[in-house]
Amino acid sequence: MLALQELVKQLDTLLDSQSFKDYCPNGLQVEGRPQVRKIATAVTASQNILDQAVAEGVDALLVHHGYFWKNESQTLTGMKYRRLSTLIKNDISLLAYHLPLDAHNELGNNVELARILDWQVTDGLDAGNPRSIGLVGSAKRDKTLGQITERIHRELDREPLVIGELSKEINKIGWCTGAAQGFIEQAADAGCDLYISGEISENTVHAARELGVAYIAAGHHATERYGVLALGRWLQDNYGIEHITLDEKNPV
Ligand SMILES: [Zn+2]
Repeated sequence: MLALQELVKQLDTLLDSQSFKDYCPNGLQVEGRPQVRKIATAVTASQNILDQAVAEGVDALLVHHGYFWKNESQTLTGMKYRRLSTLIKNDISLLAYHLPLDAHNELGNNVELARILDWQVTDGLDAGNPRSIGLVGSAKRDKTLGQITERIHRELDREPLVIGELSKEINKIGWCTGAAQGFIEQAADAGCDLYISGEISENTVHAARELGVAYIAAGHHATERYGVLALGRWLQDNYGIEHITLDEKNPV
């Protein structure tokens, strides 16, 4: 068990969350009960996940996609009211870490994705920037686009969308979880044969073809499951907080 304020302090310090310019507040977003015995982690604080958290009797929910995004409605009505009232009525805290969790070099979404897909990290996508969120590296075992695609399908349990010839030999991979398809030119500049993100736009297809870089859209949800999971395990190992992971189907 850990006091909520201490839990937040430990996570803020671990993720260095104060130093990020982000589109949402990082850290404690909704304050619930003062002691945390049991925590749930999930990708997004959707109503489905909130309902699961209530049923599981957790003290706090820790997510990658929380609330209070820039340009979000300023009133507590409709969907936003229902979500927040679920937390408040059940006295459950909401903690959210967005960019700090993408970027962390041991527990972040991008290093965790590499670990799960058996890739070696060699550099940041934004070369030389220690804060680069996207990464560059190579597959330890897979040699072709087809082999890499197969592993992604198997490990992430979701069929990826692939632009490129499956027989293409892949030496250098660039990746950035979530909706980072816009960095494909940066990956091409870094000499990558393949760039991977979660989502895809119409123009990503043209960019991939014209830049000569293969592209895989591996799922925004699917690529961002692992940072928050690693964080939950870290809390369990270091503070003895009971951790459960909550998931839901999301094809994007
Ligand atoms: Zn995301």
